[in-house]
Amino acid sequence: MPSSSSSSSLPIRLHGIVGHPLGHTLSPLVHNWGFRHYGIPGVYLAWPVEPGRLADFVTAVRVLGIAGVSVTIPHKTAIMPFLDVITDRSRAVGAVNTLFWRDGQLLGENTDVAGFVRPLVERGFSPASALVLGCGGAARAAVAGLRELAVPDVRVSNRTPERAEGLCRDFGVEFVPWERRWEFGGGLVVNATPLGMLGQNEGLSPMPREALGPSVVAFDLVYNPYRTQFVRDAAAAGAQVIVGLEMFFWQAVEQFRLWTGRTLPRDEVWELLRTELEG
Ligand code: NAP
Repeated sequence: MPSSSSSSSLPIRLHGIVGHPLGHTLSPLVHNWGFRHYGIPGVYLAWPVEPGRLADFVTAVRVLGIAGVSVTIPHKTAIMPFLDVITDRSRAVGAVNTLFWRDGQLLGENTDVAGFVRPLVERGFSPASALVLGCGGAARAAVAGLRELAVPDVRVSNRTPERAEGLCRDFGVEFVPWERRWEFGGGLVVNATPLGMLGQNEGLSPMPREALGPSVVAFDLVYNPYRTQFVRDAAAAGAQVIVGLEMFFWQAVEQFRLWTGRTLPRDEVWELLRTELEG
């Protein structure tokens, strides 16, 4: 009879996403596809973990040797003290969305920054000015990315002014009152609010149509639906658009690279994601 140790020595590498509650996520689709594609003995699971159990979760990551973790709301900042190393990007954003191992140490990275920057770099687009709408985690990743790209004029607008104070102070960016956001003349406009998202915010846009035109590049971080109201309005006004799925795609590519050293094939994974969203 085989001993029980034979099953525990199976080289299956565990990965997954930790959050609470865990709604629908595209991450298992992408990463499990990647493991199959490269013949890597890995699996990506979903781990709903309550805030009070986060320390236990990180202990489990260490004890079980879990190879990679995506971190989502509400743990992105709370998990930082439990890690061995926080990367510069995570420190700048003040949040971690990826755990990975290097030389026996558990690191926290923020791949949302890479996910945000890549679609701009791919287009060779280096805006002179940018307006970020919202001040949560996605907005912080966007502003950190704009700083990396050395965009000279970065502004932030938020419905609740006092909530944007920390972001504006940390990155030294100007605050624009929410009711004056439409005065932004031209450049990159980033939607880092949930306006437009599937559900109660679907069909809403963070920017009045009149403020959009050919001098604007509209980057919506919302990725479900694939084409949001903001993206539709911007395209109709002659603006260039970048859909949120691009950011999601590139942050997932970066996670997979950190965990496996492999680069997900662009066309196939993009098609997989787009089909999942658009049917
Ligand atoms: P968050 O931390 O909850 O921040 C939400 C922000 O949106 C706050 O600034 C909030 O303003 C604002 N907001 C919420 N409802 C609003 C409304 N009705 N009108 C005006 N402003 C409103 O969220 P987050 O984690 O930063 O995520 C924001 C969006 O980015 C989500 O849709 C998320 O799915 C998306 N996202 C996409 C990616 C990607 O890979 N594409 C990655 C991360 C996040 P107040 O302070 O006034 O409440």
